Amino acid sequence: MKCPFCKQADSRVIDSRAAEDGTTIRRRRECNGCGKRFTTYEVVEKLPLMVVKQDGRREVFKRDKILNGVVRSCDKRDISMERIVALVNEIERDVRNTMEQEVPSSKIGELVMNRLKDFDEVAYIRFASVYRKFADISSFLEELKVLQAHKGEETKDK
Ligand SMILES: [Zn+2]
Repeated sequence: MKCPFCKQADSRVIDSRAAEDGTTIRRRRECNGCGKRFTTYEVVEKLPLMVVKQDGRREVFKRDKILNGVVRSCDKRDISMERIVALVNEIERDVRNTMEQEVPSSKIGELVMNRLKDFDEVAYIRFASVYRKFADISSFLEELKVLQAHKGEETKDK
């Protein structure tokens, strides 16, 4: 980023903020050569994250969908909204960290379940039962076994 006054390329950022629509970042910079300040606008390349549903249809990733699912799973549990939102933030980060442009909905479900496992057992089972659409009691018990095995491993670690 060249200084518009002395053309030196060396400057430091003193303030950054995203524009309202999130597509540009406005940066205040100070030139390390002449000390003058100037503003730059940088375009953020942000392609929408797509979710591929089971039937192959695609839709734009919406964190609200995850939030709603988790809130429903945590119904009547003693869990603050603050903790739920923090959890959903972590899940969203997990999803974005896959670095894929298109993420299968099944993958997102797994990421949610991974986080819920250590978050709240009841919420986990509830989410799993909706998500996996347990056809019968045996698949439900199967999931319970997975959870218990997971807990067993944790105790071993400690
Ligand atoms: Zn300068």
